Amino acid sequence: MKARLRDNLIELMQIPGLSGHEDRVRQRLATKLAALGVKTRSDRMGNLLASFPGAGPSVMLFTHMDQLGFIVRKIEADGFLRVERLGGVPERALPSQAVLVCLGEGRDVAGVIGNKSHHATTPDEKYKVLPYSDLYVDIGLTSAAEVANAGIKIGTPVTYQPNVIALAQDRIAGTSVDDRAGCAVALEVARHLAGRSAGPPVHLVFSVQEEYNLRGALPMAQQLLPDIAIQLDLILATDTPDMTERGDVSLGGGPAMSLFSFHGRGTLNGVIPHPAMVSLFDTTARDLALPLQRSAHIGALTDLSYVQLVGEGVAAIDMGFPMRYSHASLEVCDLNDLVGLSQLLIAALGRIDAQFALNRDAV
Ligand SMILES: [Zn+2]
Repeated sequence: MKARLRDNLIELMQIPGLSGHEDRVRQRLATKLAALGVKTRSDRMGNLLASFPGAGPSVMLFTHMDQLGFIVRKIEADGFLRVERLGGVPERALPSQAVLVCLGEGRDVAGVIGNKSHHATTPDEKYKVLPYSDLYVDIGLTSAAEVANAGIKIGTPVTYQPNVIALAQDRIAGTSVDDRAGCAVALEVARHLAGRSAGPPVHLVFSVQEEYNLRGALPMAQQLLPDIAIQLDLILATDTPDMTERGDVSLGGGPAMSLFSFHGRGTLNGVIPHPAMVSLFDTTARDLALPLQRSAHIGALTDLSYVQLVGEGVAAIDMGFPMRYSHASLEVCDLNDLVGLSQLLIAALGRIDAQFALNRDAV
Protein backbone atom coordinates (compact mmCIF):
# COMPACT_ATOMS: atom_id res chain seq x y z
CA MET A 1 0.00 0.00 0.00
CA LYS A 2 2.81 2.41 0.82
CA ALA A 3 4.46 2.02 -2.59
CA ARG A 4 1.14 2.59 -4.32
CA LEU A 5 0.40 5.66 -2.22
CA ARG A 6 3.85 7.01 -3.04
CA ASP A 7 3.41 6.47 -6.78
CA ASN A 8 -0.08 7.97 -6.87
CA LEU A 9 0.91 10.94 -4.72
CA ILE A 10 3.95 11.74 -6.85
CA GLU A 11 1.94 11.37 -10.05
CA LEU A 12 -0.87 13.62 -8.81
CA MET A 13 1.49 16.27 -7.40
CA GLN A 14 2.91 16.78 -10.88
CA ILE A 15 -0.40 17.70 -12.49
CA PRO A 16 -1.30 21.40 -12.24
CA GLY A 17 -4.90 22.01 -11.15
CA LEU A 18 -5.62 25.53 -10.02
CA SER A 19 -9.02 26.08 -8.37
CA GLY A 20 -11.63 26.36 -11.12
CA HIS A 21 -9.22 24.69 -13.54
CA GLU A 22 -9.09 21.16 -12.13
CA ASP A 23 -9.80 19.35 -15.40
CA ARG A 24 -6.40 17.69 -15.83
CA VAL A 25 -6.43 16.36 -12.27
CA ARG A 26 -10.02 15.16 -12.63
CA GLN A 27 -9.27 13.37 -15.90
CA ARG A 28 -6.30 11.56 -14.38
CA LEU A 29 -8.30 10.52 -11.33
CA ALA A 30 -11.17 9.28 -13.52
CA THR A 31 -8.67 7.23 -15.55
CA LYS A 32 -7.16 5.75 -12.40
CA LEU A 33 -10.60 4.91 -11.00
CA ALA A 34 -11.64 3.33 -14.30
CA ALA A 35 -8.56 1.11 -14.07
CA LEU A 36 -9.98 -0.13 -10.73
CA GLY A 37 -13.28 -0.88 -12.44
CA VAL A 38 -14.93 2.14 -10.81
CA LYS A 39 -17.38 4.23 -12.82
CA THR A 40 -17.37 7.98 -12.30
CA ARG A 41 -19.30 11.01 -13.37
CA SER A 42 -18.74 14.71 -12.91
CA ASP A 43 -21.18 17.50 -12.14
CA ARG A 44 -21.41 20.94 -13.71
CA MET A 45 -18.91 22.39 -11.23
CA GLY A 46 -16.36 19.71 -12.12
CA ASN A 47 -16.65 17.59 -8.97
CA LEU A 48 -15.87 13.94 -9.68
CA LEU A 49 -18.16 11.32 -8.11
CA ALA A 50 -17.81 7.57 -7.68
CA SER A 51 -20.73 5.90 -5.89
CA PHE A 52 -20.58 2.51 -4.18
CA PRO A 53 -24.02 1.12 -3.26
CA GLY A 54 -24.69 -0.39 0.15
CA ALA A 55 -27.06 -0.43 3.11
CA GLY A 56 -27.27 1.90 6.12
CA PRO A 57 -26.59 5.61 6.47
CA SER A 58 -25.02 7.12 3.37
CA VAL A 59 -21.51 8.51 3.52
CA MET A 60 -19.99 11.27 1.44
CA LEU A 61 -16.21 10.86 1.65
CA PHE A 62 -14.56 13.76 -0.06
CA THR A 63 -11.25 15.41 -0.73
CA HIS A 64 -10.37 18.39 -2.88
CA MET A 65 -8.35 18.10 -6.06
CA ASP A 66 -7.70 21.80 -6.69
CA GLN A 67 -4.67 23.79 -5.58
CA LEU A 68 -4.00 27.44 -4.86
CA GLY A 69 -2.03 29.70 -7.19
CA PHE A 70 -2.52 32.74 -9.37
CA ILE A 71 -4.40 34.19 -12.31
CA VAL A 72 -2.76 36.44 -14.88
CA ARG A 73 -3.98 39.96 -14.07
CA LYS A 74 -2.02 42.11 -16.50
CA ILE A 75 0.56 41.64 -19.21
CA GLU A 76 3.19 44.37 -19.14
CA ALA A 77 4.52 45.93 -22.34
CA ASP A 78 7.93 44.37 -21.65
CA GLY A 79 6.50 40.84 -21.37
CA PHE A 80 6.37 40.48 -17.59
CA LEU A 81 3.16 39.04 -16.12
CA ARG A 82 1.36 40.51 -13.14
CA VAL A 83 -0.76 38.04 -11.23
CA GLU A 84 -3.73 38.01 -8.91
CA ARG A 85 -3.59 35.53 -6.04
CA LEU A 86 -6.09 32.70 -5.86
CA GLY A 87 -6.41 31.12 -2.44
CA GLY A 88 -4.29 31.52 0.68
CA VAL A 89 -1.01 32.25 -1.08
CA PRO A 90 1.81 33.02 1.39
CA GLU A 91 3.32 36.22 0.00
CA ARG A 92 6.52 35.96 1.99
CA ALA A 93 7.37 32.68 0.27
CA LEU A 94 6.90 33.91 -3.30
CA PRO A 95 9.98 35.73 -4.63
CA SER A 96 12.29 33.39 -6.59
CA GLN A 97 9.61 30.72 -6.93
CA ALA A 98 9.37 28.72 -10.13
CA VAL A 99 5.85 28.86 -11.57
CA LEU A 100 3.96 27.28 -14.43
CA VAL A 101 1.64 29.19 -16.73
CA CYS A 102 -1.01 26.57 -17.46
CA LEU A 103 -2.12 26.46 -21.09
CA GLY A 104 -2.65 22.72 -21.44
CA GLU A 105 -0.68 19.49 -21.41
CA GLY A 106 2.51 19.95 -23.45
CA ARG A 107 1.83 23.67 -23.90
CA ASP A 108 2.52 24.99 -20.40
CA VAL A 109 5.04 27.83 -20.08
CA ALA A 110 7.63 27.96 -17.29
CA GLY A 111 8.29 31.16 -15.38
CA VAL A 112 10.01 32.56 -12.32
CA ILE A 113 8.76 35.15 -9.87
CA GLY A 114 11.35 37.91 -9.91
CA ASN A 115 13.41 38.70 -6.82
CA LYS A 116 15.24 42.04 -6.94
CA SER A 117 18.98 41.49 -7.39
CA HIS A 118 20.52 41.14 -3.96
CA HIS A 119 23.39 43.49 -4.82
CA ALA A 120 20.85 46.24 -5.39
CA THR A 121 18.72 45.52 -2.31
CA THR A 122 18.84 48.33 0.25
CA PRO A 123 19.01 47.54 4.00
CA ASP A 124 15.37 48.56 4.57
CA GLU A 125 14.20 46.27 1.75
CA LYS A 126 16.05 43.27 3.11
CA TYR A 127 13.52 42.18 5.71
CA LYS A 128 10.38 43.41 4.00
CA VAL A 129 7.72 41.16 2.54
CA LEU A 130 6.51 42.44 -0.81
CA PRO A 131 2.76 42.28 -1.47
CA TYR A 132 1.90 40.06 -4.44
CA SER A 133 0.79 43.14 -6.37
CA ASP A 134 4.43 44.26 -6.53
CA LEU A 135 5.66 40.91 -7.81
CA TYR A 136 6.06 39.98 -11.45
CA VAL A 137 6.53 36.76 -13.38
CA ASP A 138 9.35 36.45 -15.90
CA ILE A 139 8.66 33.87 -18.61
CA GLY A 140 11.55 34.87 -20.84
CA LEU A 141 9.50 36.80 -23.37
CA THR A 142 10.14 40.49 -23.88
CA SER A 143 6.96 42.00 -25.30
CA ALA A 144 3.22 41.84 -24.76
CA ALA A 145 2.84 40.67 -28.37
CA GLU A 146 5.13 37.68 -27.77
CA VAL A 147 3.17 36.81 -24.64
CA ALA A 148 -0.10 36.97 -26.58
CA ASN A 149 1.40 34.79 -29.33
CA ALA A 150 2.32 32.22 -26.69
CA GLY A 151 -1.40 31.99 -25.86
CA ILE A 152 -1.21 33.71 -22.49
CA LYS A 153 -4.13 36.00 -21.69
CA ILE A 154 -5.63 37.81 -18.76
CA GLY A 155 -7.33 35.06 -16.77
CA THR A 156 -4.79 32.33 -17.61
CA PRO A 157 -4.10 30.11 -14.56
CA VAL A 158 -0.65 29.97 -12.98
CA THR A 159 0.54 27.48 -10.33
CA TYR A 160 3.76 26.74 -8.56
CA GLN A 161 6.00 24.69 -10.86
CA PRO A 162 5.04 21.11 -9.95
CA ASN A 163 7.86 19.60 -7.96
CA VAL A 164 8.50 16.48 -5.88
CA ILE A 165 11.47 15.89 -3.58
CA ALA A 166 11.87 12.63 -1.68
CA LEU A 167 13.18 13.32 1.81
CA ALA A 168 14.56 10.75 4.24
CA GLN A 169 12.26 8.34 6.11
CA ASP A 170 9.37 8.16 3.62
CA ARG A 171 8.76 11.89 3.70
CA ILE A 172 7.74 13.68 0.53
CA ALA A 173 8.20 17.40 -0.11
CA GLY A 174 6.69 19.30 -2.98
CA THR A 175 3.80 21.14 -4.53
CA SER A 176 0.15 20.61 -3.64
CA VAL A 177 0.62 17.84 -1.12
CA ASP A 178 -2.52 19.75 -0.05
CA ASP A 179 -4.55 17.95 -1.18
CA ARG A 180 -3.20 15.42 -3.66
CA ALA A 181 -2.21 13.36 -0.63
CA GLY A 182 -5.92 13.27 0.25
CA CYS A 183 -6.66 12.21 -3.33
CA ALA A 184 -4.07 9.41 -3.12
CA VAL A 185 -5.68 8.18 0.13
CA ALA A 186 -9.14 8.35 -1.47
CA LEU A 187 -7.86 6.17 -4.33
CA GLU A 188 -6.80 3.55 -1.76
CA VAL A 189 -10.27 3.67 -0.24
CA ALA A 190 -11.81 3.34 -3.74
CA ARG A 191 -9.68 0.27 -4.40
CA HIS A 192 -11.10 -1.29 -1.24
CA LEU A 193 -14.71 -0.24 -1.91
CA ALA A 194 -14.56 -1.65 -5.44
CA GLY A 195 -13.92 -5.10 -4.00
CA ARG A 196 -16.06 -5.12 -0.84
CA SER A 197 -19.13 -7.30 -0.40
CA ALA A 198 -21.04 -5.27 2.25
CA GLY A 199 -21.09 -1.87 3.88
CA PRO A 200 -22.84 1.50 3.79
CA PRO A 201 -23.49 3.44 0.59
CA VAL A 202 -20.37 5.51 -0.01
CA HIS A 203 -20.12 8.47 -2.36
CA LEU A 204 -16.50 9.24 -3.03
CA VAL A 205 -16.11 12.83 -4.22
CA PHE A 206 -13.05 14.62 -5.54
CA SER A 207 -14.11 18.23 -5.11
CA VAL A 208 -13.29 21.55 -6.77
CA GLN A 209 -12.55 25.11 -5.68
CA GLU A 210 -11.78 24.33 -2.04
CA GLU A 211 -8.82 26.71 -2.02
CA TYR A 212 -10.95 29.41 -3.61
CA ASN A 213 -14.20 29.68 -1.67
CA LEU A 214 -14.56 26.38 0.23
CA ARG A 215 -17.89 25.72 -1.43
CA GLY A 216 -17.12 23.71 -4.57
CA ALA A 217 -18.28 20.49 -2.93
CA LEU A 218 -21.57 22.03 -1.87
CA PRO A 219 -23.65 21.35 -5.03
CA MET A 220 -22.55 17.72 -4.87
CA ALA A 221 -23.58 17.47 -1.22
CA GLN A 222 -26.92 19.11 -2.00
CA GLN A 223 -27.50 16.51 -4.65
CA LEU A 224 -26.37 13.51 -2.55
CA LEU A 225 -27.87 14.65 0.77
CA PRO A 226 -25.60 12.29 2.73
CA ASP A 227 -26.20 11.28 6.35
CA ILE A 228 -22.47 11.36 7.07
CA ALA A 229 -19.66 13.47 5.60
CA ILE A 230 -15.99 12.66 6.07
CA GLN A 231 -13.55 15.16 4.67
CA LEU A 232 -9.88 14.36 3.95
CA ASP A 233 -7.24 17.06 3.98
CA LEU A 234 -4.08 18.11 5.76
CA ILE A 235 -3.95 18.56 9.51
CA LEU A 236 -1.35 21.14 10.57
CA ALA A 237 1.75 19.43 11.95
CA THR A 238 3.02 21.34 14.96
CA ASP A 239 6.39 19.67 15.43
CA THR A 240 8.57 22.34 13.83
CA PRO A 241 10.25 25.02 16.01
CA ASP A 242 7.80 27.69 14.83
CA MET A 243 4.63 25.68 15.51
CA THR A 244 5.04 23.97 18.87
CA GLU A 245 2.65 26.34 20.67
CA ARG A 246 -0.21 25.43 18.36
CA GLY A 247 -0.81 21.83 19.26
CA ASP A 248 0.50 18.32 19.49
CA VAL A 249 0.46 16.85 15.98
CA SER A 250 3.68 15.33 14.70
CA LEU A 251 4.65 14.32 11.20
CA GLY A 252 4.89 10.54 11.08
CA GLY A 253 2.82 10.29 14.26
CA GLY A 254 -0.16 8.79 12.45
CA PRO A 255 -3.40 10.06 10.96
CA ALA A 256 -5.28 12.84 12.76
CA MET A 257 -8.80 14.03 13.37
CA SER A 258 -9.97 17.56 13.95
CA LEU A 259 -12.04 18.15 17.08
CA PHE A 260 -12.53 21.84 16.40
CA SER A 261 -11.87 24.26 13.57
CA PHE A 262 -12.89 27.85 13.16
CA HIS A 263 -12.13 30.71 10.86
CA GLY A 264 -13.20 34.23 11.69
CA ARG A 265 -11.43 36.15 8.94
CA GLY A 266 -14.00 37.09 6.34
CA THR A 267 -16.22 34.13 7.09
CA LEU A 268 -17.60 32.69 10.29
CA ASN A 269 -17.45 28.95 10.01
CA GLY A 270 -15.81 25.78 11.18
CA VAL A 271 -16.58 22.22 12.19
CA ILE A 272 -17.30 20.70 15.57
CA PRO A 273 -17.49 17.03 14.64
CA HIS A 274 -20.49 14.80 15.38
CA PRO A 275 -19.80 12.75 18.55
CA ALA A 276 -20.71 9.49 16.81
CA MET A 277 -18.00 10.14 14.23
CA VAL A 278 -15.38 10.99 16.87
CA SER A 279 -16.18 7.81 18.72
CA LEU A 280 -16.19 5.75 15.50
CA PHE A 281 -12.64 6.83 14.65
CA ASP A 282 -11.44 6.61 18.26
CA THR A 283 -12.60 3.02 18.70
CA THR A 284 -11.53 1.93 15.23
CA ALA A 285 -8.03 3.33 15.76
CA ARG A 286 -7.82 1.66 19.16
CA ASP A 287 -8.91 -1.71 17.78
CA LEU A 288 -6.42 -1.47 14.91
CA ALA A 289 -3.69 -0.36 17.35
CA LEU A 290 -3.17 2.69 15.13
CA PRO A 291 -2.10 5.98 16.69
CA LEU A 292 -4.71 8.69 16.09
CA GLN A 293 -3.65 12.28 16.68
CA ARG A 294 -6.02 15.06 17.73
CA SER A 295 -6.12 18.60 16.44
CA ALA A 296 -8.09 21.66 17.59
CA HIS A 297 -7.30 25.09 16.29
CA ILE A 298 -8.54 28.24 14.63
CA GLY A 299 -7.28 29.73 11.39
CA ALA A 300 -8.05 26.93 8.97
CA LEU A 301 -11.23 25.66 7.40
CA THR A 302 -12.29 23.04 4.91
CA ASP A 303 -15.33 22.78 2.65
CA LEU A 304 -16.85 20.47 5.26
CA SER A 305 -17.93 23.64 7.08
CA TYR A 306 -20.52 24.15 4.35
CA VAL A 307 -21.26 20.51 3.54
CA GLN A 308 -22.32 19.85 7.15
CA LEU A 309 -25.20 22.33 6.79
CA VAL A 310 -26.91 20.59 3.88
CA GLY A 311 -30.41 19.08 4.18
CA GLU A 312 -31.29 18.18 7.76
CA GLY A 313 -27.64 18.55 8.73
CA VAL A 314 -24.85 16.04 8.19
CA ALA A 315 -22.84 14.10 10.78
CA ALA A 316 -19.44 15.50 9.87
CA ILE A 317 -15.78 15.09 10.67
CA ASP A 318 -12.48 16.34 9.23
CA MET A 319 -9.90 13.55 9.01
CA GLY A 320 -6.41 14.09 7.76
CA PHE A 321 -2.69 13.54 7.49
CA PRO A 322 -0.18 15.77 9.30
CA MET A 323 1.51 18.24 6.95
CA ARG A 324 4.18 20.91 7.35
CA TYR A 325 4.58 24.28 5.59
CA SER A 326 1.01 24.56 4.31
CA HIS A 327 0.45 26.54 1.12
CA ALA A 328 4.17 27.05 0.44
CA SER A 329 5.60 25.56 -2.75
CA LEU A 330 7.28 22.81 -0.72
CA GLU A 331 4.81 21.17 1.64
CA VAL A 332 5.88 18.02 3.49
CA CYS A 333 4.00 14.87 4.45
CA ASP A 334 4.95 11.38 5.62
CA LEU A 335 3.83 8.36 3.60
CA ASN A 336 3.36 6.31 6.76
CA ASP A 337 0.63 8.72 7.87
CA LEU A 338 -1.12 8.23 4.53
CA VAL A 339 -0.98 4.46 5.02
CA GLY A 340 -2.44 4.80 8.53
CA LEU A 341 -5.17 7.15 7.33
CA SER A 342 -6.15 4.78 4.50
CA GLN A 343 -6.33 1.81 6.88
CA LEU A 344 -8.32 3.77 9.42
CA LEU A 345 -10.86 4.99 6.87
CA ILE A 346 -11.35 1.56 5.32
CA ALA A 347 -11.91 -0.04 8.73
CA ALA A 348 -14.18 2.76 9.98
CA LEU A 349 -16.38 2.65 6.88
CA GLY A 350 -16.82 -1.09 7.46
CA ARG A 351 -18.29 -0.37 10.91
CA ILE A 352 -21.05 1.90 9.69
CA ASP A 353 -24.23 -0.20 9.47
CA ALA A 354 -27.99 0.25 9.81
CA GLN A 355 -27.61 0.41 13.63
CA PHE A 356 -25.07 3.24 13.50
CA ALA A 357 -26.80 5.94 15.55
CA LEU A 358 -26.60 9.58 14.50
CA ASN A 359 -29.43 10.66 16.76
CA ARG A 360 -28.15 13.18 19.32
CA ASP A 361 -30.63 11.87 21.90
CA ALA A 362 -28.77 8.58 21.87
CA VAL A 363 -25.43 10.18 22.76
ZN1 LIG B 1 -6.52 21.50 1.38
